[in-house]
Amino acid sequence: MYTDSAMTCIFCKIIQGQIPSTPVFQDGLGYAFADINPKAPTHVLIVPREHIASLDKANQDHQALLGHLLLAAASIAREKGLKDGYRIVVNTGEDGGQTVDHLHLHLLGGRMLTWPPG
Ligand code: AMP
Ligand code: ZN
Repeated sequence: MYTDSAMTCIFCKIIQGQIPSTPVFQDGLGYAFADINPKAPTHVLIVPREHIASLDKANQDHQALLGHLLLAAASIAREKGLKDGYRIVVNTGEDGGQTVDHLHLHLLGGRMLTWPPG
């Protein structure tokens, strides 16, 4: 069952194949695809199939799902050969720089990443 916001959500449309993407991984709970505007040599987005607007909207019911997505990100990083390290980012809300209101993990790697982020 999709909410109104999910019907207009670009990541929901990507998951449903209505908007093309380059798939990296998928299973019953999540989908991972290449970021269209990569900020590093490897830049993958990992999203739950369920429309959750942001980490701030997640609740205890999502605990296992969030753990699953985090471990999927680590698995993708290994498959991508990011043996020297990588970064997982979950931009949340306006101050966090979130531009798509569907919870997503960024997997960034393949170059030395600076800290702190801007
Ligand atoms: P955020 O700013 O954390 O909400 O991240 C949203 C990300 O989605 C950005 O890195 C965008 O480049 C990426 N993005 C937006 N539209 C698409 C798309 N159609 N396919 C792949 N990545 C996208
Ligand atoms: Zn969505």
